Order: sequence, then structure tokens, then C-alpha cells
Amino acid sequence: MKTSPVSRRRFLGQITTAAALAFAPHWGRAVDRPAPARKLGVALVGLGSYSHYHLAPALHRTQYCRLAGVVTGDAAKGAAWARDHGFPATSVYGYDTMARLAANPAIDIVYVVTPNGLHAEHCIAAARAGKHVICEKPMANTAAECDAIIAACRAAGVRLTVGYRLHYEPHHAELARLAREQVFGPFKRMQGANGFRMGSPGGWRVDKKLAGGGPLMDMGVYLIQAVCMAKVEVAPVAVTAKFDATTRPALFSEVEESVRWTMEYADGAKADCHATYAEGVSRFRAESDRGWASLDEPAFYYEDPVLTTSRGKVDLPNVNHQVAQLDGMAAELLAGRPSIAPGEMGRRDLAIVDAIYASARAGGKRVEVLG
Ligand code: NDP
Repeated sequence: MKTSPVSRRRFLGQITTAAALAFAPHWGRAVDRPAPARKLGVALVGLGSYSHYHLAPALHRTQYCRLAGVVTGDAAKGAAWARDHGFPATSVYGYDTMARLAANPAIDIVYVVTPNGLHAEHCIAAARAGKHVICEKPMANTAAECDAIIAACRAAGVRLTVGYRLHYEPHHAELARLAREQVFGPFKRMQGANGFRMGSPGGWRVDKKLAGGGPLMDMGVYLIQAVCMAKVEVAPVAVTAKFDATTRPALFSEVEESVRWTMEYADGAKADCHATYAEGVSRFRAESDRGWASLDEPAFYYEDPVLTTSRGKVDLPNVNHQVAQLDGMAAELLAGRPSIAPGEMGRRDLAIVDAIYASARAGGKRVEVLG
């Protein structure tokens, strides 16, 4: 899964560690594993809020990867990051100089954390530089852009994963296990809501070109993820959707303020979801004929959710979501194991998003989800 011979040699040199990591569960076992010969180097692209407050601090705690460089539009900020985080000033790049990453053997993975509408451009540049790519959610503005990213990563022979941190979080992983092992049988009825009250000005998140849409692209993607987890990673066959009335038209002139949709499955299962920038809410519940599972507030935020099932509260460890995700992805890469959050999953979710917007724009018409 590498392009350059140098990177390939380094990758092969880590196979012993990789073998030890193979078949480890996706979360919670990092402390049990041996330290790798060399931590994988990660370059963050876009030094905004998520990079600054969550990913960079996490990269100081990870066992299998470390912060090794940045890509930024602000050279002074990049220099300060190099100083503060202890990597060379030569590992600071601009968006227009990403091709030079190819010559930097200290960087194995490029993690794209820019606004959604720029993900495709930056992921493709990273792939062409021969680096593995982690792309923040949503993977892009549309499924068509996801196709372009996947094609670039395939052509370069690099791995593409999506920053779906909750796949590496124990409570969500347990929901996935309950579904996969059919502990309560197939989930048939699901409901979820996720949102926060967007302040003004909304920045790029209310800019259609940069965000791709409103809360569906942001909070809604977590709901799509939860539903697909509860349905063992199967996509729905169709959706119906409606935008809520806009209460703050000046702020939401380009994107929706809130949207509700129903995902419909081939086995008759249905999921009712609500993504909003009008109120703080974060919950998900899945029911079958034999039981239920509920991720209570805050189901999707950075704090640990509470998972309760019809058998009672599930006792699981609390982890730092970003540390778990970064170490989980690095461990998968070192082990040569397929990722549990691959680019194809990000693409699936954008196909669902495309269908939801098509339905909402058509006033709630049923729209089939195209593969
Ligand atoms: P911010 O606005 O805080 O940061 C985005 C950064 O991207 C900017 O600081 C800037 O960095 C860079 N950038 C490049 N071009 C532009 C542009 N035209 N307009 C604005 N910024 C630009 O956003 P977030 O960090 O909150 O979000 C970034 C991505 O991370 C999004 O895709 C979002 O969905 C995702 N995210 C994921 C989370 C999760 O839990 N998985 C949580 C939060 C966000 P610089 O100055 O260095 O060039």
C-alpha cells in the first residue's frame, strides 16, 4: 500500500510489530501492544480548531504515530507549530507545495482537516505525493468527489481512511458488535438526533461551497454512521427527507438550518434522523423485536457516551477518541490490516447524503440510494 521504495522498505521493517498487532480489537488494547520500531509520522493539513484542540494534543499521546509536519496557509503559524510540537521547520508546507511532501521520509500519513469542500483537492495532492491519507468527515461534498479521491489513492497505491473516530470508541464499537453478532436480532427501528446551536457568524460551515451543505454534512454524518453500524455497515435502499423551516434566514442563506430524514432498508427496517444547527442534541436508539440499544447524550460528542441496552447499562472503558482513532488507524496500517473506516465507507455515506438532499429538495419524494 505504499508508493516509494523508501517508504516500502520502512513499512516492511515494521512487519514484526505489525504481526503482533494483527487481529487486535479496534480499541482499548493499545497499552497491551509492543511499541513500534518507529512511530508513523503524521502531517496535519489545516491548523484550525480540530487540529489545534484535539488532533495535535492526541498525537503527543499516541503510541503508534506522532506529529511530524503540517500543511497550512499561514507560514508563521506553521513555524510556531514546528517550534511548539518539536518537528523541523522544513516539515512545514503550504497548500501549493504539498507535492514536496514526497521528498520527506519522516511523513507517512497526511491527515486532511480543512473545510469539507477542500478535502478532495488536499487528499488528491497528498496521494500524489505518495502519502497515506486520513480524510476528516465528511469525506467530501459529494459522492463524485469521493470517487476522485478514491481513484487518486488507488493510482498512488496509498491507503485512504476517513476520520470516523467513533469506530474506535468502545461504546460505538459495542453497538456495532451487538448488530454484527445479532445479539438482539436485526435492528428494525432506529431514531437519532444530533446538533448544536450554531452561533453567528457561522464561518465556512454556512458557506455552501466550502461546507457542501448544513448540519447534514456535519452532525448528520454521525447519524448516518450510527444507522449503518446498527445495520452491519449496509447502506439503506432509499431515503425520504425534509428541511425544517429556517428560523434564522440571515445565517442560513446558503445551507439548511435543520433537516429530518428517514432511511429505509431492504429488510423493512427504518431510521428516523434529525440533524440541526438550531439546538444541542446528541442521541441514538436502535430497537429490534428482542431488545434495544441506546447511546444516550452525548452520543456523538467527544465525551464518553452512555450505552444502555434492554439488558442494562454496558460498562466500558472511557478513552480519548482522537488517541484511539489515530492509534487504531496506525496499528491497522502497521499490521497491513484493512481499515474499519475506509474511503469506500466515506463514499457510501456521501451517496446517502446526496440522496437525502435530492429528496429534501424534491419536497420529501422517496429517492433511491445509488451505490
Ligand atoms: P476550522 O475552521 O477551525 O479550521 C479549518 C482550517 O482549514 C483553517 O484553520 C485553515 O487552516 C484551513 N483552511 C484552508 N482553507 C480554508 C478556507 N478557505 N476557509 C477556512 N479554512 C481554511 O475547522 P475545523 O477544524 O472545525 O474543521 C475542519 C474539518 O474537520 C472539517 O471537515 C470538519 O468537518 C472536521 N471536523 C471533524 C471533527 C470530528 O470529530 N471528527 C470535529 C471537528 C471538525 P490554516 O490557517 O492552517 O491554513
